[in-house]
Amino acid sequence: MLTNSLVELDRQHLVHPVSSFRGHEARGVRVLRSAKGATVTDTEGRELLDGFAGLWCVNAGYGHESVVEAAADQMRKLPYATGYFDLGAEAPIRLAAELAERSPGDLNHIYFSLGGSDAVDSTIRFIRYYWHAKGQPQRDQFISVEQGYHGSTSMAAGLTALPGFHEGFGIPYQWQHKISSHYAYRNPAQSAEEIVAASVAELRAKVSEIGEDKVAAFYVEPIQGSGGILVPPKGWMKAMRDVCAELEILFVADEVITAFGRTGPLFACEDEGIVPDLMTTAKGLTSGYVPMGAVFMRNHVYETIADGAGAKAVGHGFTYSAHPVSAAVALEVLYLYEGGLLENGRKAGARLMAGLETLRDHPLVGDVRGRGMLAAVELVTDKEKKTPLPASVQPATRLFDRAWEQGLIVRSFPQGIFGYAPPLCCTEAEIDAIVERTRTVLDQTLEDP
Ligand code: PMP
Repeated sequence: MLTNSLVELDRQHLVHPVSSFRGHEARGVRVLRSAKGATVTDTEGRELLDGFAGLWCVNAGYGHESVVEAAADQMRKLPYATGYFDLGAEAPIRLAAELAERSPGDLNHIYFSLGGSDAVDSTIRFIRYYWHAKGQPQRDQFISVEQGYHGSTSMAAGLTALPGFHEGFGIPYQWQHKISSHYAYRNPAQSAEEIVAASVAELRAKVSEIGEDKVAAFYVEPIQGSGGILVPPKGWMKAMRDVCAELEILFVADEVITAFGRTGPLFACEDEGIVPDLMTTAKGLTSGYVPMGAVFMRNHVYETIADGAGAKAVGHGFTYSAHPVSAAVALEVLYLYEGGLLENGRKAGARLMAGLETLRDHPLVGDVRGRGMLAAVELVTDKEKKTPLPASVQPATRLFDRAWEQGLIVRSFPQGIFGYAPPLCCTEAEIDAIVERTRTVLDQTLEDP
């Protein structure tokens, strides 16, 4: 009864652009009531394993009392202080210092946003200031990667390669360029070395096509998330980073999904042994308890902007930048990561990858890929030809529903890819259940596509 009335109220009043704008085809929402660890409970009392940590953000898991306490304490003491002018609060200052200490290389300067999209938007503004300060304002062209996702705000949506996010919105797209994704499973190049060489050649060609003195920055995700969880071959990130260093193009790592233990270490750039010029994070920063994102800048980027802007104030910032409650939560979440969650996540991630590998022999499984607690299973109807599932299978809805019926939440991409990003707190039994419930869905789909 409660569920029905909530579903109806939702349908009438709450807009979910990705699904509500499908008119009469829109499905009713599933309403969640509570959560603990890696398990969520819906309003019917059904318990489900959250194999996707909300929207790949609840890295620490649900229901940590110490996080609730940190937020409540901060709300009692000082719920708000603007960071817009020369004002501040203790929690964001401490958080910036703690993050700077742990970030790769000299990514020492941190700007707090509200989430991932506005973190990416902020980098575009900062980079434009950087090139102005360098006396090269004509460097106003940006390059990103096909299949990439960098956010939903207008500037970030321009960098996002998924067409639904920018087509038809009149986004100023003319200064944004793309190179092909590494997408190893469907890449015409065969070996890892060939994929790396092809991407390097394409980036170089794209830069000379645009004009070497016109390119401001190159954006990459260490693992492409929303494009289908695409892991670059070893050495790809480093090779692209080196090209950017040589051509003096700023290299931006968008770690909104990959940071905070998702792939093993605190930051995925550590896996690659690289230091980007700027780095964006969000999601796991506060583990979904409250919103927050962070832009990290290397010393040379920050100092160039700070000195070059001179007396001119940089007109950028949000009412809720560096929010004290979000910062207090992020600090507590960081201590939880270091107090055992990162380690558990690394073990659980190895178990998840090994478990999903056992699905490789299934007739519907074309590819299994991932790193740590970020993984994908790509479904095909013909393994030899790598034929994608036909649209009639409706992966995004029917396969999602089947997993739900098994008590599992996975991301089910429309192109027939199951995505996994469970909380780092998962037990061995929970990881095994994620794999086994997936196997059941695959068997059902083989029998009744
Ligand atoms: N960058 C990447 C790599 C992302 O995956 C996302 C969100 N999925 C964003 C940016 C945007 O973050 P948000 O949804 O918090 O605005």
